Amino acid sequence: MLIIGGGPAGSTLAWALKDTGLKIAIVDKQTFPRQKVCAGWVTPEVMRMLDINLDDYANGRILQKINGFKISQLGQKQVESHYPGEPVSYGIRRIEFDHYLLQRCGADLILGEAFKKMDKTSEGWQVNDKYNAKLVVGAGGHFCPVARAIGAKGVSELAVAAQEIEFEMSPQQKQNCTIKEEVPELFFTPDLAGYGWVFRKGDYLNIGLGREDKSKLSSHVKSFCEQLILERKIPADISDKFNGHAYLLYPHAIRKMIADNVLLIGDSAGLAYPQSGEGIRPAIESAILAARVIHGSNGIYNQQCLQAYNNMMELRFGRRLPKPNLMERLPMFIKKFAASQLMKTHWFTKNIVTDKWFLQSHQTPLALPTTCRCER
Ligand SMILES: Cc1cc2nc3c(=O)[nH]c(=O)nc-3n(C[C@H](O)[C@H](O)[C@H](O)COP(=O)(O)OP(=O)(O)OC[C@H]3O[C@@H](n4cnc5c(N)ncnc54)[C@H](O)[C@@H]3O)c2cc1C
Repeated sequence: MLIIGGGPAGSTLAWALKDTGLKIAIVDKQTFPRQKVCAGWVTPEVMRMLDINLDDYANGRILQKINGFKISQLGQKQVESHYPGEPVSYGIRRIEFDHYLLQRCGADLILGEAFKKMDKTSEGWQVNDKYNAKLVVGAGGHFCPVARAIGAKGVSELAVAAQEIEFEMSPQQKQNCTIKEEVPELFFTPDLAGYGWVFRKGDYLNIGLGREDKSKLSSHVKSFCEQLILERKIPADISDKFNGHAYLLYPHAIRKMIADNVLLIGDSAGLAYPQSGEGIRPAIESAILAARVIHGSNGIYNQQCLQAYNNMMELRFGRRLPKPNLMERLPMFIKKFAASQLMKTHWFTKNIVTDKWFLQSHQTPLALPTTCRCER
């Protein structure tokens, strides 16, 4: 089996199938550790599903505990929620997190080689004229070449376009940063197209903004930063070299996830949660569900057999392109007015924005496949 992409989706699939006897290789165009454009926020559920020993992980890596959130509409009063007790989220750095997951996953690693093409064979596929596999898994993120190869990537996709910067603050910058480490701040845009964030992880600061409308993104990011500087939240001397990337929100994505001897997981399949844009947990859950299907398929990977993956995904994440609900059908001016009022209330920002949209506290935990071995 060949997995294209060694991000959280690809490495989790290999890890979940470790010790099943399957021969698995991961191809990634980059060598690791590598940077990934991301805020680096994960819930404890992600760490549990990945069976990560937090003490082990924190040894030499950033693991920022989060106990609250500050939420507001950009330019309005912020509302702060606190969660006493165990952390409700963690801040990680993707350069460390993805490397950690890849190193322990047990697959053969073919790094620094890009996927170029795949040709159908009687058994499955031949990739880059040299790697033969009965099953090719597309885990190459939003621009996954496997998704393109099977025609899953539509031209009319409505993606979230985002820009982000993460840097280690100098002692002077730390003094000029008023963001609390354990309380990230989120700022929803008044046009309801997206949100910006500021997230302090130890000495690192992560600032970004994503919108389901890519026009003038750089100027939105620029005015967001100017506002943060004006409010003395971040140091004034930050670089303007933001990195851009994109992702699809699951209900709005139209990508197919399977073809004969091909399966897509993670961002390649377009799985991010609609309101938060959280994509690491869905990437990991899709990998775990894919592992269950692969393990139970007796080596037969035609589209009919892989349909079980589609079914499991729909059970877990719901139907795609659902009909707009009552709230969504309301005229935009009413939605904007309602949002501006609700975002000022503690009830809405805690129970809906934080608990439901960001912490997914209504989601039942996904059980690990029985093939997963603990790495303690
Ligand atoms: C600005 C921003 C902020 C975000 N913040 C968060 C957050 O805080 N929390 C969260 O949960 N989610 C966040 N996300 C979403 C999250 O980053 C993704 O959902 C997640 O990385 C998906 O994992 P993946 O393994 O599917 O893909 P990726 O992590 O994108 O990994 C794909 C891998 O495929 C490789 N690849 C690509 N093309 C090729 C090729 N041609 N050949 C070989 N290899 C290839 C890449 O090098 C990469 O290593 C954010 C996204 C953005 C853009």
